[in-house]
Amino acid sequence: MTDSAESPSTQKINIVDIDTFVSHAYDFVIIGGGTSGLVVASRLSEDPNLQIAVLEAGKAKVNDFRIKVLALAPSMLGNPEYDWGFKTVPQEHLGGRAEDQNRGKVLGGSSAINYMMTTYSTTEGLDAWEKLGNKGWGAKNIKPYLHKFQTWNCPSEETKELFELDKTTVESSLDASDGPIQTGIYKNLGPLERDFVKAFRNMRHSPVRTDPVNGVSRGAYPIPATVNPRTAERSYAVTGYYLPASNRCNLHVLTEAHVTKILFDDVHASGVAFIHHGQAYSISAKQGVILSAGAIQSPQILELSGIGPAHILEQHGVKPIVINDNVGENLQDHIMTILPFPPAQPDTPIFSNPTLVKQAMEEHAKTASGPLSKFIGTSAFVSLTDILSVTESGRDANNFVTSHFLPIDALSNQQRLIRTLLEGSGASTQFLILPSYLRPPSSNNEGGHTLVIGLMHPFSRGNIHIGSSDPLAAPLIDPKYFSSPIGREILARSLMYAENAIHTAPLSHHVAGHERKFTNSGDVDTGLQAAREHLKKWAKTTYHPVGTCAMLPLEEGGVVDSDLRVYGVMGLRVVDASVFPLIPQGNPQTLVYAVVEKASDIIKSGLKMET
Ligand SMILES: Cc1cc2nc3c(=O)[nH]c(=O)nc-3n(C[C@H](O)[C@H](O)[C@H](O)COP(=O)(O)OP(=O)(O)OC[C@H]3O[C@@H](n4cnc5c(N)ncnc54)[C@H](O)[C@@H]3O)c2cc1C
Repeated sequence: MTDSAESPSTQKINIVDIDTFVSHAYDFVIIGGGTSGLVVASRLSEDPNLQIAVLEAGKAKVNDFRIKVLALAPSMLGNPEYDWGFKTVPQEHLGGRAEDQNRGKVLGGSSAINYMMTTYSTTEGLDAWEKLGNKGWGAKNIKPYLHKFQTWNCPSEETKELFELDKTTVESSLDASDGPIQTGIYKNLGPLERDFVKAFRNMRHSPVRTDPVNGVSRGAYPIPATVNPRTAERSYAVTGYYLPASNRCNLHVLTEAHVTKILFDDVHASGVAFIHHGQAYSISAKQGVILSAGAIQSPQILELSGIGPAHILEQHGVKPIVINDNVGENLQDHIMTILPFPPAQPDTPIFSNPTLVKQAMEEHAKTASGPLSKFIGTSAFVSLTDILSVTESGRDANNFVTSHFLPIDALSNQQRLIRTLLEGSGASTQFLILPSYLRPPSSNNEGGHTLVIGLMHPFSRGNIHIGSSDPLAAPLIDPKYFSSPIGREILARSLMYAENAIHTAPLSHHVAGHERKFTNSGDVDTGLQAAREHLKKWAKTTYHPVGTCAMLPLEEGGVVDSDLRVYGVMGLRVVDASVFPLIPQGNPQTLVYAVVEKASDIIKSGLKMET
């Protein structure tokens, strides 16, 4: 099954009506028709003997141009037609700011609104999951699924030439892939992206030596996106997984259906209650309920249903089914900051000019090309040792964490592993570049091209809990950004490193008169302090929350076991980004698809054993 060659805009949508939906008997009920929910629905419904229901709170919007046209992605943020538009609670270390937490509220979930960047965790990062107590979840077990979810489209000769790519840097191991999601490097990357890559390489970073999908992601290179190269349209859970399966009689998807709680028969999950167009309904599940509402709402739904910390359930008058203090904890996110700089050749941000947008939309529709047919397409992953060279010349990463911040015997299992990743082959920081002309209309930064600088291995852990028993109220999201100061210190140094990058040829040729703010005086402490102040104002989410229903042993903070079954109950699994025990390096969607493909196999093999 692959993303159909037919343009999604001409494909049939098959969403059932409420009467059909509630009159049917289902084996599995899936909560959330987002990235994960649609993958597991599509895989389980391959068996015609299984009746599958999916409830999605958002609308279908299958042919929506904002979802399809790549560079329009930021225009969906904050728009309630697509985005839940959550806010965090005020963040102490971000000057008390309450930060945006955008999440897709539409069929396809966050895969419908995300920025399509396609990068991979390192081998060590994946092995860390197994080391945390999850048997069968090491790199060797997960990698086959990184291949299974996608069809890799080789870059054009022009792109290879532009970036001097050889076979080793273009996902060569994916050549035979034929999965549902289309991936490939944007075909119209230009001199700015090329010179971003060259500048990082000139800062002593050798090009990536092996295929990134195989677990080595350090250095600067053009990154793939989840895009259909024929149409230059987004490839996502709807086009890749749902549409090709939507004619199956055993798969029913109901949109605008907000799940309010999971129903239990004693400790057995027996169905779900939901609201559709203001009316309350319930359906039952013969074999199980699969919770795929994402890292923000899966813990919320567990708590609303009576699974969570005793004090939270008691405070909000929720009848307990199972007390588990780990629900909603372990929240991890990549925090990032930005460094805008004025372009050498001033250009007009396309979104400030409706005529330009109209022309670009027409060009995109007619020729699958033009300025809207790409988004962020290059990345540099830089090691902690290189980042530290900005302030601590001659030092390497060894002991930075323990000598500066945490004595070695005070490290938790997770912190020990993060330290190993930082000192090993991983990167502490991801750098991206967004060209000036694609600047989102909502961005209130100083303008120009923008370097985006993301912290890959945060030590801070936050939480998400219900703030009331009202299922329609937003949960309280507290990422506790920078509550562990190591992350702030690494990101501050990374910001200084970014400033050096924009003054390094040939990226420097794209800059007009940028004044150094962090690396001008030669006084490292003054520069560092200025960088810390910048972070207070300009640090925010990269939209990668994970970990709030962690797959871990119960005594180590787990909510689900390594078969993704919720501890203490029967017939309930969580299958989405909330089960990640440890946030991966880079953009997480590849791992979300892979984890859910693997989870689908686990569920199916369990069924075989029962028959
Ligand atoms: C703006 C943005 C940009 C991003 N950019 C990138 C990127 O470039 N690369 C990358 O790798 N990752 C990116 N990500 C992250 C990536 O998209 C997510 O990690 C991934 O899609 C999460 O999948 P999920 O299945 O866990 O959750 P989701 O895809 O969010 O699915 C959850 C679904 O559950 C539904 N739901 C929630 N509550 C209920 C309820 N009560 N009843 C019914 N339905 C409910 C939601 O509406 C949603 O459809 C980005 C995310 C965002 C938001």
